[in-house]
Amino acid sequence: MICELCGREADRTTPILIEGTALRVCRDCMKFGDVSKTAKKEVATKSAIAERLEQRQRRMRSKDVYVEEETYELVADYPRLIRDARAARDWKQETLAAKLNERTSVINKLERGDIRPDDVLIKKVEKELGIVLREKVPVIKPESKSTGGKELTLGDLMKMKKG
Ligand SMILES: [Zn+2]
Repeated sequence: MICELCGREADRTTPILIEGTALRVCRDCMKFGDVSKTAKKEVATKSAIAERLEQRQRRMRSKDVYVEEETYELVADYPRLIRDARAARDWKQETLAAKLNERTSVINKLERGDIRPDDVLIKKVEKELGIVLREKVPVIKPESKSTGGKELTLGDLMKMKKG
């Protein structure tokens, strides 16, 4: 089996959730996501992203790929996280807006996912609601210098999936 995150051949893979996307990963990559029953259900059928990675695997020997570094990305379900945390405090959108010194319409759009918060707003919301809206994402690079290959992140794979 092939790890859908680092692309290495693994004896055994485990389904995890990364940014709301279910991936089957090797033991080393399990730390990057949440192992959950949800994930196990979602990977029951092979995803488009898995197929894309397998195509890439055929072109690239597994030992040429490794995880070099990590970056932080906004989690996909930030609208729900914000809404739930606010509701748990019994705050109206107006209440949260006032605490963050933002307009109520901004909170409304955040909770509908209409806008992506910038770093400053993410930090304010995380602090005020005591939640985490970002997660570590590994940056996967081809080892070979000669290719001059661009860094490939999970975010890029998501774009490839859509395109
Ligand atoms: Zn892996």
